[in-house]
Amino acid sequence: MTTIFNHLPIPLLAETDILVIGAGSAGCVAALSAATHDHCLSVMLVERYGFPGGTSTQMLDTFYGFFTPGATSRKIVGGWPDRIVNELDKVGAVFLRPNTYGAGTGVNYNPERLKLVWDQMIQQHSIRYLLHTTLIDIATEGERYVCIFWNKGGFQKVIARRVIDASGDADFCHLAGFAYEIAGENELAQSLTTTFRMSNVELDEYERAGGKKMLALKMQEAVASGRHPLPRKEGSAHEMNAPKCISTVAVKVAGLSALHADELTKAEIEGRRQAFVYEDFFRDDVPGYQNANIIGLSHQIGVRETRRVYGEHRLTKEECLSGLLPDNRIFLCGAPIEDHRHDASGADETYWEYIPGSGVYGVPYGTIVPKGSQSVWVVGRCFSATHDAHASCRSMAQTMSMGQAAGLAAVQSLRSDEAANSLTVKQLQQDMYELGAILDVPDTLADTSRYGWKANFPSSAEQITHRNSALT
Ligand SMILES: Cc1cc2nc3c(=O)[nH]c(=O)nc-3n(C[C@H](O)[C@H](O)[C@H](O)COP(=O)(O)OP(=O)(O)OC[C@H]3O[C@@H](n4cnc5c(N)ncnc54)[C@H](O)[C@@H]3O)c2cc1C
Repeated sequence: MTTIFNHLPIPLLAETDILVIGAGSAGCVAALSAATHDHCLSVMLVERYGFPGGTSTQMLDTFYGFFTPGATSRKIVGGWPDRIVNELDKVGAVFLRPNTYGAGTGVNYNPERLKLVWDQMIQQHSIRYLLHTTLIDIATEGERYVCIFWNKGGFQKVIARRVIDASGDADFCHLAGFAYEIAGENELAQSLTTTFRMSNVELDEYERAGGKKMLALKMQEAVASGRHPLPRKEGSAHEMNAPKCISTVAVKVAGLSALHADELTKAEIEGRRQAFVYEDFFRDDVPGYQNANIIGLSHQIGVRETRRVYGEHRLTKEECLSGLLPDNRIFLCGAPIEDHRHDASGADETYWEYIPGSGVYGVPYGTIVPKGSQSVWVVGRCFSATHDAHASCRSMAQTMSMGQAAGLAAVQSLRSDEAANSLTVKQLQQDMYELGAILDVPDTLADTSRYGWKANFPSSAEQITHRNSALT
């Protein structure tokens, strides 16, 4: 591996046992599970932005994937993801959105509070935490990786024995030469979405006027009449963890790559433009929104998929739909395939396909191990899956679960000198069970109190109406 940085004197910032790149939902949990599993190992977490959480705090407010969708909802994720929910719950920053939207019951949280929770949990567990610092290149030194970062202080290097790539875009794997597929190469890539938040929405008035059925009709009318050229007549507009505030996931920007700065620039501009097309529509046409306005756009446009690494195992659509629980599973998923894209003719389309039978499948360990990797794991939305399988397995309960498994696996690999691609998965599973991970499909319906959550399912019709204003 040659790099121009081989010839430059780059100051050493740190040597660490485990380096996690990217503090999104996957990376934060990877660092936390590694640090808490072995206090003698050093863990470092590096993030390019000034706050943790990635997509979870940049633009969203609902964890999906904890529960299976449908009438017989079961809770299928546990361990560190539970601890995060509980921290939010302690300060009343979480409620459950009921199971009427496609992905199942969602865990709605205050995203600003979540930034604080990630910060605090990371600091409490002695993780070396560095924000505003971007991975830009890598080299090797014996069996260790030399990771070169840039921040306002210039170039700095970190030498690591084990690396967990949680950058979302598989930046480390790309630089290290691991193989990957780029979204859009084989199937149409999922679209990009700028999310936005509106305040001063009169929810009672909105509900009295017909709620989401009324909204769907208003959207159709607005588009048919040409008054408001909405790019998409579906999506989610739901109550936030703040009074009279609505979060909307409806913008759709297709055909531009998030890996090319010029295309991403166009996407950011287009996403913002579309957001204000929706604002005009809501204010002009939707009862309850007359005095509402946008108070926040997502920190950046939302990216669903870019690079998907080829791993020791590649999750496929057939495996998701099989409902099988392979022996080497490291977490469960029950989310449907939810594919946001334009179809071949350019028409707006969101494709849904539910997991039949038990409604749950198990995800093999090899999906977080780049092919041939001795000391690197890849977690989160760049894990090893085909386009369709990824469209099911990318919710945040699952990305956190990948991080949990990788953090434990990195510790195990150091303790027992096992390579990533030949790790004893039985031992890993044992550690995961001890942490509270769920690897067997529960036969009882979801009861969050069993897992120490205070937040439980909404009990009154009023809550259900107000807290679920999804458009579809
Ligand atoms: C519009 C949209 C709506 C969605 N809706 C939902 C939903 O409602 N519920 C749900 O559960 N899931 C939802 N998802 C899916 C889910 O949010 C993502 O799959 C998940 O958050 C990805 O987590 P991650 O940790 O893999 O990546 P990310 O959240 O992207 O985190 C990657 C982190 O790495 C950092 N990083 C990147 N490159 C570098 C680098 N070179 N150096 C240092 N740091 C770097 C980034 O800044 C970021 O913090 C949605 C996704 C999108 C885009």
